[in-house]
Amino acid sequence: MTDRRKLAAGNWKMNGLGAELSEIEALIASHGAASSELLICPPATLIERMARVAEGSALQIGGQDCHAAASGAHTGDTSAAMLRDAGASHVILGHSERRAGHRESDAAVRAKTEAALAEGLVAVVCVGETLEEREAGRTLEVIASQLDGSVPDAATAETVVIAYEPVWAIGTGKVATTTEITEVHDDIRARLVARFGDEVGNGMRVLYGGSVKPGNAAEIFAVENVDGALVGGASLKAADFGGIIAAL
Ligand code: PGA
Repeated sequence: MTDRRKLAAGNWKMNGLGAELSEIEALIASHGAASSELLICPPATLIERMARVAEGSALQIGGQDCHAAASGAHTGDTSAAMLRDAGASHVILGHSERRAGHRESDAAVRAKTEAALAEGLVAVVCVGETLEEREAGRTLEVIASQLDGSVPDAATAETVVIAYEPVWAIGTGKVATTTEITEVHDDIRARLVARFGDEVGNGMRVLYGGSVKPGNAAEIFAVENVDGALVGGASLKAADFGGIIAAL
């Protein structure tokens, strides 16, 4: 099996003011030398300041979205180059909250991912089924079409990370069972290998996301094709995120 480096990624969503940078200082003090890869994606307003705090540590900083265009008349939007300029090395794209709240299609997510890759950012591309889709037995079909539509052909193991986040498990405290996670992650792995070949398909990280906490992280990370986590609520506090990092 390919040796994939585990990644703990935090998504602060629309949370965090300057005062919360103390959590990052604490996280770096406790886990700044971790051997796994660490990433926090704060709101755009904190990227530059957080990147300064993280300088010289193992913690990487990312955005939560970018526009597909390089620049221009897009009021309120942020380009991939702006994220990089502010100190980001990664960007989350196609999160279900953006797919639902901003009507982002697979094609839009793919275009944003292409823009991110063109700027040298690593794209964390999110996929996941709703509860209705799961109950209708459509989970694997939905994930397959999101992967096909959202991940560009130019994706490599170094430039793209997939995050599987069942929509019904995000922020709800409901975690998918390890059986459910195994089924989806194995299917994603097989699809990546079929599309990108052995080396890229086996090298690309696939994270699980959805109510990951220090108490359930070890069990989730023990699943073979789980290469880390995308963490929302439990990434806001250094103690919680540290507990997840420790389980990697
Ligand atoms: P959660 O969010 O950990 O708060 O469920 C995960 C995510 O949306 O990335």
